[in-house]
Amino acid sequence: MRQNFVAGNWKMNLTLPEAQALTSEIVQMLHDELLGADSPQVVICPPFPLLPAVGHLLGGGPTPALGAQNCHQKESGAYTGEVSAKLLQSIGCQYVILGHSERRQYFHEDDALLSQKLKAALTAGLKPIFCVGESLDTREAEETFDFIAKQLKDGLFHLSNEEFDQVVIAYEPIWAIGTGKTATSQQAQEVHAFIREQVAQAYDAQAAQNTTILYGGSCNAQNAREIFSQPDVDGGLIGGAALKSRDFVTIVK
Ligand code: PGA
Repeated sequence: MRQNFVAGNWKMNLTLPEAQALTSEIVQMLHDELLGADSPQVVICPPFPLLPAVGHLLGGGPTPALGAQNCHQKESGAYTGEVSAKLLQSIGCQYVILGHSERRQYFHEDDALLSQKLKAALTAGLKPIFCVGESLDTREAEETFDFIAKQLKDGLFHLSNEEFDQVVIAYEPIWAIGTGKTATSQQAQEVHAFIREQVAQAYDAQAAQNTTILYGGSCNAQNAREIFSQPDVDGGLIGGAALKSRDFVTIVK
């Protein structure tokens, strides 16, 4: 079901004590400042080794929920250094980020591999946060829409209706990630509306209406309100600003 939604992607940051301090602050602030039925879905995605400690502090409820930043496509086996979706589910994860541009770029994850990871996550009962987004070159060549359509078609739209129901989509233009250069609210809205249209074509109008679509890329406490006010933007996937409790909770609010 479509939700107001904010996820924090901590990437490869924080030590255990730092993560515990940040999580405790976030939980306290959400509790003090955001009681009420219209509270959005909040998800925190720490690095793998921090998941149990952060999950413990989050309390295991539906929100704030715990998410991972990646998973392997196989259920178990001889894959040294990898982590399965099944393990993540067993330690309290409810979500997993898949297809982040940093995974696509630095770890060569392509649409075929991401399709398998999506299946593995869904089989294990995790809800994928599936990222798409164009580079600056693609945007300047005016190929953004074709590029996003292909990422969706090749990576995501092989899922059944029931599987697709579990997915949150994040639009993250690569040129906006960690650069301080945010997409304008119009640029975000335009692509979000396009993604919704693609979902309607691949599934149906109801599925499109029900899909939660997040914006990510230098989203912060100053610009979140304006971006999230766009009709097809349901919230954000937050990197840098998710590492500061005050900023993150301001974005949630
Ligand atoms: P950023 O990262 O907010 O630091 O730009 C967003 C993301 O990569 O998910």
